Amino acid sequence: MLPCLRPDLATLTVYHPQARELGTDWLDGNEFPLDWPAPLKEKLVWLYRQDIANNRYPDGSHGEVKQELCHYIHEGLGTTPSPITPEWLTVGNGSDELIRSLLIATCLGQNAGILIAEPTFSMYKILARTLGIPVWTAARDEQFAMCLPQATELINQEPIRVVFVVHPNSPTGNGLTLQEREWLRQLPPKILVVIDEAYFEFSQDTLLPDLLTHPNWVILRTFSKGFRLANLRVGYAIAHPEVISALEAVRLPYNLTGFSLLAAHLALTQRRQLLSAIPEILTERERLWAELQKIPEIQVWASQANFLYCRSTIHPPAWLHQRLQELGSLVRHTGGGLRLTVGTPAENTRLLQRLRQTCGG
Ligand SMILES: *Cc1c(COP(=O)(O)O)cnc(C)c1O
Repeated sequence: MLPCLRPDLATLTVYHPQARELGTDWLDGNEFPLDWPAPLKEKLVWLYRQDIANNRYPDGSHGEVKQELCHYIHEGLGTTPSPITPEWLTVGNGSDELIRSLLIATCLGQNAGILIAEPTFSMYKILARTLGIPVWTAARDEQFAMCLPQATELINQEPIRVVFVVHPNSPTGNGLTLQEREWLRQLPPKILVVIDEAYFEFSQDTLLPDLLTHPNWVILRTFSKGFRLANLRVGYAIAHPEVISALEAVRLPYNLTGFSLLAAHLALTQRRQLLSAIPEILTERERLWAELQKIPEIQVWASQANFLYCRSTIHPPAWLHQRLQELGSLVRHTGGGLRLTVGTPAENTRLLQRLRQTCGG
């Protein structure tokens, strides 16, 4: 290895997206199975032609998107009065960028690290490692709730500055329990609590009311899942203005392209239309879940998101993953099981057929 490079980088786990072949059902990325409706996509292209000059830098303040996000967030709070203004928001190149900004703003160069409970979203650990930030891991019980005595012990013994949780968790689909919520609420202000609500559009369950009274909390959201915009990389964080200032201070000035900002703005103003497709995903999730329950060797857990987590009591997950891929359904092998993204009805039917064929259900 070249002596000018950081030696620890050679030992890192790198995030490699799975190779995806055409003709295969892509049920591995938790994306929405349908692109935008054609007229809306046309409108995006038309607005791009009309409003965006390629030679000019994009709006580095993200003002219009933040303004529209405020409306969307107020809507999600129902009758709870909301103080959320643009000062409570920062927009990232996907929420992955925001995760990195959070790590830079809290732990970098501070002899401080993060706590996660595995299995969970892999990027927290991967990004922390690339910054030389230590990661402590708590276990989960059979229903995938965090092992709280162990987490408490780690918090008491290690220099932990950030706790990352996903609500509902990926890959397992479970929302935070009452006990987990209570535990997060009692964490001291020297610990930043990050609630990743990437699947909020599916779960409709948010911890935003808690954030209003906890200045050490951050909520992460993304346009990649419910808003069907994974390709254009837009995520956002909601937090008290002091936390937001820190995140704004460490981000790149033009972190999003004008095209992405335009698309996010259009997604928000057209949210009724875009999000109206979500109930069908939830119906399909329930159908998949019920059918998976009927396959004797498959253990499947309930989910609040657009995916299901399952394990075979007979076959190793790597084998099952490989078999399904050969038959034409690409799913995600992670955490000792398989994460199945809810696809179109036809994709889900094919996945069930292939699983029955493989498992003899
Ligand atoms: C998909 C996902 C994200 C989204 O990441 P983007 O960078 O916004 O595409 C974030 N967190 C979790 C837990 C996810 O599953």
